[in-house]
Amino acid sequence: MKRSTVDRTKLSPMMLQYMEIKDKYEDCIIFFRLGDFYEMFFDDAILASRELELTLTGKNAGLDERVPMCGVPHHAYASYIDTLIEKGYKVAIVEQLEDPKLVKGMVKRDVIQVVTKGTRIDNNLDSKNNNYIANIYDFDYCKGISFTDISTGEFYCELLEYNQDEIIREVVRRGFKELIVNEKIDRELVNILRSTYGILVTITKELDDTKEYQYIYEDIDDPRIITTIKHLLYYVLDAKKGDLHHLKKCEIISSQKTLFFDNNTKKNLELVETIRSRDRQYSLLWLLDKNKTAMGSRYLKHEIENPLTDKKELERRYNFIEKLSTEFILRDDLRNYLDQVYDLERLAARISYGNLNARDMLQLKKSLNVLPDIKNILEQLDYDKTINPITEVASLLEKSIHEDPPLTLKEGSLIKDGYNSELDELRKLSSGSKDFILEIEHQEKERTGIKTLKVGFNKIFGYYIEVSKGQKNLVKEEYGYERRQTLANCERYTTPLLKEKENIILGAEEKIINLEYKLFMDIREIIKRYITLIQEVSKIISEVDMLQSFSIVSDENKFVRPKLVDEKSLELIECRHPVIEKVLTTKYVANDIIMDKSTDILLITGPNMAGKSTYMRQCAITIIMAQIGCFVPCKSCKMPIFDKIFTRIGASDDLVSGESTFMIEMKEANYAISEATENSLILFDELGRGTATYDGMSLAQAILEYIHDKIKAKTMFSTHYHELTALEKDLKHLKNVHVSAIEEAGKITFLHKVKPGSIDKSYGIHVASLAKLPLELINRSKNILDIYENKKGKQETFTQTSLFELDEEEINEQENKNELEEKIKEINPLEMSPIEALNFLYELKKNMK
Ligand code: ADP
Repeated sequence: MKRSTVDRTKLSPMMLQYMEIKDKYEDCIIFFRLGDFYEMFFDDAILASRELELTLTGKNAGLDERVPMCGVPHHAYASYIDTLIEKGYKVAIVEQLEDPKLVKGMVKRDVIQVVTKGTRIDNNLDSKNNNYIANIYDFDYCKGISFTDISTGEFYCELLEYNQDEIIREVVRRGFKELIVNEKIDRELVNILRSTYGILVTITKELDDTKEYQYIYEDIDDPRIITTIKHLLYYVLDAKKGDLHHLKKCEIISSQKTLFFDNNTKKNLELVETIRSRDRQYSLLWLLDKNKTAMGSRYLKHEIENPLTDKKELERRYNFIEKLSTEFILRDDLRNYLDQVYDLERLAARISYGNLNARDMLQLKKSLNVLPDIKNILEQLDYDKTINPITEVASLLEKSIHEDPPLTLKEGSLIKDGYNSELDELRKLSSGSKDFILEIEHQEKERTGIKTLKVGFNKIFGYYIEVSKGQKNLVKEEYGYERRQTLANCERYTTPLLKEKENIILGAEEKIINLEYKLFMDIREIIKRYITLIQEVSKIISEVDMLQSFSIVSDENKFVRPKLVDEKSLELIECRHPVIEKVLTTKYVANDIIMDKSTDILLITGPNMAGKSTYMRQCAITIIMAQIGCFVPCKSCKMPIFDKIFTRIGASDDLVSGESTFMIEMKEANYAISEATENSLILFDELGRGTATYDGMSLAQAILEYIHDKIKAKTMFSTHYHELTALEKDLKHLKNVHVSAIEEAGKITFLHKVKPGSIDKSYGIHVASLAKLPLELINRSKNILDIYENKKGKQETFTQTSLFELDEEEINEQENKNELEEKIKEINPLEMSPIEALNFLYELKKNMK
């Protein structure tokens, strides 16, 4: 049955209420609160029953047919919602807004929040990653992008040129979980984002204005940025429907302040996850993350994705790392204290939104309790920012919140004794009556002489006197016992006195629970005033944690402080790839990467597997590490500050766009050469190999010349086109280097050592034989190579001689020749006696036949 075809005049009032709410939230699955369940109806029910494996039932709603329905228990709804939003759905939670016991007729219901992938604010969020929701606002001539993580309060905005590729690149690079766009936006862009990149995109109307959150953009002048911020803000406020004053002032992203690279580079360099398994383990982030707090880990990830270009700030970070490494005892203490700090940033968000429970408050208290010690250590380390330990909140929580509170707020046991006198009185009354009841047990035993008589309590029948079946006969009329419950082996009674005490206890307990809830809410309101201070502390803790992590990793791995220079001269002495070095069981071969003022391009030749792309990657990674303020994997490092990094390494993973690998490669090359400046780094790995030899080689040469003459960016270019090494003569800022390998007895050994000059052998066949291709095939390729190399001068191609056109005699002759060669290679004439040599010669001659 379709919702749209229903005759609404026939519907029951409750179902009509449902319909009206669903009309306003068409694109959401409605979780409709009915008593102890959240129910779904119509198409929502069919879909949710499939996605959540729930039983589909029906509800009588006044129509001829029953309305499809399924439901989840209210106490377990969170995990069902998680599953739905992870699958890309939006869920609107509809609550009863009145107590059903207190109203006649139907209770009021409405949406209390919309939950989506990008607007989560709960405890189950991944603590090591940000969760961004973004808005793309189309202004005809440019686009504004604003994004926020409402679980931490961060808010950012930027303006981009009107260029579809650019927008997609930015969205993918930043890993937005959810997007909203204004109605004007190009639908093709929306389709690509949805179908190719699987992003949840909502097209929104212009939304209402709100003055309440003006502080977020009050320091910004550009009306386009303000509109972009507001649009996202209204969407988020409309979805969450709660207090979001923890949202911070919006930061405008400026390309000048950060080292730019696109998503391909982020992937190729395995900065935050590995290419193959998309795992954090073995990425740069994994190596550098010795943070003690989740805030520190998130900040580190943010910094790796957005390295800096501000020399002063970088030097400031290096100075602190250096200080930490010398004061390692203080550093250890600091790490111990940081270990006790919970996720203050996310706690602040939940304080504001109002879903902070008592256990969260304890986390807040424990975190605040160590702040004075952290403050003290930071002062001893001459750290330039001061922590406010917010002691008044710590002591309020110390006085008020119970040490072992339950998860929910309506069970009591939230507030400590001594915090509130009314509560203490009620507790006294309740426990006094409980003591009295224990006393009753004693008295009744005496009075009745029934030794096994007990006083007990259960939720349904309240307090009772229990007498076992065997002793039932001893209960006399005069005792005034009233029967309450008969069980198989006992009888339960009550008495007027017991009832009286029970009323006192239960009345007091209800009052206690209500009062505790109220006191808890009051405390939450008080803490709310400190959100900004808590956020300021979080920011400092995140940074300090990241820097102590850098200091630890740098000590462990012998990283050194980079020297940032103003001239365009790069000198990485004995540089290593920090992650490969860490996981390699053999020794990593360090290499120098030198591009001085007069060298812009390194043309790298060498066999496959020699380490060319690793050499290039380690250069980029070193620069990124330096520009997040970390020490670097070198013996010494001198470098300028880079503005952008472009890479074209390895296979592109853009399989979805339907373009050929070569096309993608050329597009990426174009992107690099059109965006790079003389302060950029470009890494091109075997560019041009995806087409015919001369085609590719010509393109490669032209690109090298273009970079050399026009862009002047520092560039590393690896190639198998040995012909290109001749360019060194003409391009004065280009230098040849090669990665060497040695060949012994037909076997190749990679030394991974980079040396000046070029090499003219590719060893491709050796690598193929290492890969264990059939021997017959390997031998055949050696022959072809021989033929090709011999005939090359005469401009003949090897394609004329296919394996299948050779006659048998020719094959035998060639195989024979190989065998003879192998045999000769095996002997050492200096170690042979004349007679042995003669015998060997005789043997050879015999084999030739
Ligand atoms: P190429 O790009 O020349 O084909 P790679 O850079 O992919 O070669 O390197 C191949 C393998 O050699 C790497 O996976 C790595 O394990 C190893 N390797 C590369 N460089 C070094 C080095 N400097 N020291 C030790 N091992 C290295």
